[in-house]
Amino acid sequence: MSSRKRPISLEDMQKIAAEATERQPCQDCGTAPGAPCTQPGRGRSICKSRWIAAAIAIRQQARGTRRTPEQEAILAALPRVSREEIEACRTPAGGYSFTRARLAAWGVPYPPPAGWLQALLRDEDGADARHQ
Ligand SMILES: [Zn+2]
Repeated sequence: MSSRKRPISLEDMQKIAAEATERQPCQDCGTAPGAPCTQPGRGRSICKSRWIAAAIAIRQQARGTRRTPEQEAILAALPRVSREEIEACRTPAGGYSFTRARLAAWGVPYPPPAGWLQALLRDEDGADARHQ
């Protein structure tokens, strides 16, 4: 049984759109989480790759995929990094390039655990806003 063929509901689409814009960076237009896509392509407001990343995140949330306590501890121990520092990892093409050395400097293990970027940016996202 595949759930992939199930038609997507409007509610799901809204959830994915919100996840994409608020939590996912866009590798295609090089947009940080919280900013809209600048070059999403014709007929789109969100780049396909960003949309897919968000859809996967939503699906994992829906499945109740939880990080292990170990992973949670790693994320909680990460330093807070300003959006400016994240932006400094831009490539000339406008995307992001997080090198292994860069991640290590922030204390992020490699491969980086899910949610690492949000963990680094937790202040920038406004931690309080999440609990409304
Ligand atoms: Zn984009």
